[in-house]
Amino acid sequence: MSQLVDHLAELTGFRDRDIVDVTLVSALHDLLNPISVAIYRVVGEGGDERWITRARLGENDAVATADPAWADPETLPRLDQYPARMQAMAGETSIVTMPGALSRSIFPVRTDREVVGVMEVESRVPLRDEDVRMVTSILRIYRNFQGLLDYSERDTLTGLLNRKTFDESFLKATSAPPMSAAMSQAATPDGRRHAASSHRHWLGVIDIDHFKSVNDTYGHLIGDEVLLLLSRLMRSSFRFHDRLYRFGGEEFVVLMRCASEDDARMALDRMRANTVAYPFPQVGTITISIGFTEVKPGDTPSAAFERADRAVYYAKGHGRNQVQSHAELVARGELVDDSKTGDVELF
Ligand code: GH3
Ligand code: MG
Ligand code: MG
Repeated sequence: MSQLVDHLAELTGFRDRDIVDVTLVSALHDLLNPISVAIYRVVGEGGDERWITRARLGENDAVATADPAWADPETLPRLDQYPARMQAMAGETSIVTMPGALSRSIFPVRTDREVVGVMEVESRVPLRDEDVRMVTSILRIYRNFQGLLDYSERDTLTGLLNRKTFDESFLKATSAPPMSAAMSQAATPDGRRHAASSHRHWLGVIDIDHFKSVNDTYGHLIGDEVLLLLSRLMRSSFRFHDRLYRFGGEEFVVLMRCASEDDARMALDRMRANTVAYPFPQVGTITISIGFTEVKPGDTPSAAFERADRAVYYAKGHGRNQVQSHAELVARGELVDDSKTGDVELF
């Protein structure tokens, strides 16, 4: 019992979701002594959903392994490759399958809003009823804790990450902390190779064009609905691992990984085009202006944001409904590069 309480105290002692998942897996590994414990989450949408391994601890593993947060979706297994997991997600309780001598118990993992994945326990003998009850209870605590994290990290209207979390996750995403680095190098049990996507990061700032007139003409409630619908367009336009923020008002930010400036521009222009094509109820067509910049080593969140924002400002002055690259504007002599991350000032 005290061992269980210790684990719960540890589980709720972190605010970093990667660490929370690793802690959950480690706790169940200690408590159940199984062959393996893992958390798998569903990522992606539109019929191309995949399983991402959030944390997995095998019998002889000293540390948990995981797919890198920036894993290329194409390298992840498709949902229907694991029908038992899909079955567990659709139901209320655990599913037990027994391939050969192995017992596999699969529990749905929920947040307040939906089922987001599964917890899978492989053991030599089926879990006892009391073990199943314990896992279910721990998963409820996990769910409540995730709810608290969401509440502090997410914007209530759109569910996107809020500005408060930007600095922290900017630095985390762009500096690859030791744990993620170690985890990302580990191979999964089926020996899949992790083709992590490119290492260049880009920051895009998205601002709705003439949003004030939407509010003035249709009222704040309709304005808020536009913000909500735009956030949905963002979710479907960008990849699951791109980080999406609402910076307050009608300003949104995306932090993404792309191999080249062209790739970044293409992703952002897809978002712009999806927005123009979307029939917003009552309002009709909405356009957005986007500025973007590459995140450089040693960049600060505010310096990178400032550069992208200046590109937005340029777009606003040159017709709106467009994507502008800060670097390209500087190269063309349209903007002066006075960023504080230049070599001269930094070193
Ligand atoms: P521009 O094309 O130059 O960006 O014009 P704009 O009208 O979008 O820009 P401006 O920054 O002048 O106005 C932003 C407006 O966004 C002001 C305010 O009416 C509206 N706004 C800010 N926050 C919210 C919100 O949470 N809900 C709603 N409905 N409107 C908001
Ligand atoms: Mg604005
Ligand atoms: Mg605006």
